[in-house]
Amino acid sequence: MKIQVKNPIAELDGDEMTRVIWALIKEKLVLPHLDMALEYYDLGIMERDRTDDAVTVEAAHAIARLGVGVKCATITPDAERVGEYGLKRAWPSPNGTLRGILDGTVFRKPIMVKSIKPAVRSWEKPIVIGRHAYGDLYKAVDLAVPGAGLAELVFTPDDGGPIRLAVHRFAGPGVLMGMHNTDASIASFSKACFAYALSEKMDLWFAAKDTISKTYHARFKDIFAAEAALHAEVLRDAGISYRYLLIDDAVAQVMKHPGGILWACTNYDGDVFSDMIASGFGSLGMMTSVLVSPDGAFEYEAAHGTVRRHYYEHLKGNATSTNSVASIFAWSGAIRKRGELDATPAVVRFADELERAVLGLVEEGVVTKDLVALVEPRPAGYESTESFIDKAALRLAAALA
Ligand code: NAP
Ligand code: MG
Repeated sequence: MKIQVKNPIAELDGDEMTRVIWALIKEKLVLPHLDMALEYYDLGIMERDRTDDAVTVEAAHAIARLGVGVKCATITPDAERVGEYGLKRAWPSPNGTLRGILDGTVFRKPIMVKSIKPAVRSWEKPIVIGRHAYGDLYKAVDLAVPGAGLAELVFTPDDGGPIRLAVHRFAGPGVLMGMHNTDASIASFSKACFAYALSEKMDLWFAAKDTISKTYHARFKDIFAAEAALHAEVLRDAGISYRYLLIDDAVAQVMKHPGGILWACTNYDGDVFSDMIASGFGSLGMMTSVLVSPDGAFEYEAAHGTVRRHYYEHLKGNATSTNSVASIFAWSGAIRKRGELDATPAVVRFADELERAVLGLVEEGVVTKDLVALVEPRPAGYESTESFIDKAALRLAAALA
């Protein structure tokens, strides 16, 4: 008998090798066991092109409405892709569109396995990075200063005279940059961080440099403190702590920390440290990602892209060995969240069993090629894309029987 899932999940299909994996996961791991309604949106590049990207916008609204979505990796087209697929234009990044509509924050979490030792010896539990995805360096304006002169910051209110601040008196050529953020965006970032910390029952760190940036970074610190105060009781009941740290202190401490924390970062810090954490934990194929909106909608996906090189091999009819673990965990994450929101423990249990089946294989050295050099003891061989999923399906079926 299949397990009943009460409410639908928004399913966002994608491109290339991950689209191939996606179909296998659905067919072999999910649908045989769950009686579930999936609201399907095809975010494959041809359908985005056909609908003038309307399908991406519809999918975002579906996630907001249903509260849970699961997404396959998608191509963000550049000029080369426009030629390759004969597109009308280089459509914007689907993840950017989803983030914009859901006003969401992306959290990246490594999948840990006993047989893969992180590069940092103290890391025993995952370190999750929450990256603020608005403003700062990424929406800055730069100026090449041609020569001597005065640089000023000028703000002109809609209803009043300008406010001016001297930046620097240049004696010769140099460079200049104007950066901004908004209280609204910082507040929704901090809300999403607290929502995620509570959802995952993890301690929360927020780190910045308010000793130097006494207005800009201090604003982030104050907004996080206000949000922490607002949730003081819920956090205490859940046994979760919130800490503000200076960014350099956070970096030093994280290298000696056992993990099990959510580390919230400003945009640039998050860009940099998410890559450090990802490579420290092992492989891109073992990194998941979840987009959380401030009103608590969750969208799960793998952190990697569409694994283009493997797809071209697949098209030539050659065997591939693409790691499906992060994509499987996108499904289990969404299914678990659906079960939690619907208060259906059997659905939550299914998600746990699915993850256990996959982790069990990796721990026994049954892995795809990317993990061969990472797993201890080193496996003698490796699985193909399909055979790994087939073995996971057998193990899962046995566990559920
Ligand atoms: P990628 O898909 O992340 O893959 C880069 C390389 O990393 C692969 O060639 C492979 O290395 C390795 N790799 C990544 N995931 C793997 C997995 N699951 N199993 C085994 N190896 C894995 O990046 P890309 O190929 O440069 O980008 C392809 C497309 O993905 C681009 O069009 C980009 O726009 C898109 N993208 C989408 C998302 C998203 O939707 N979230 C994120 C990033 C990129 P080897 O070749 O050495 O085996
Ligand atoms: Mg980066």
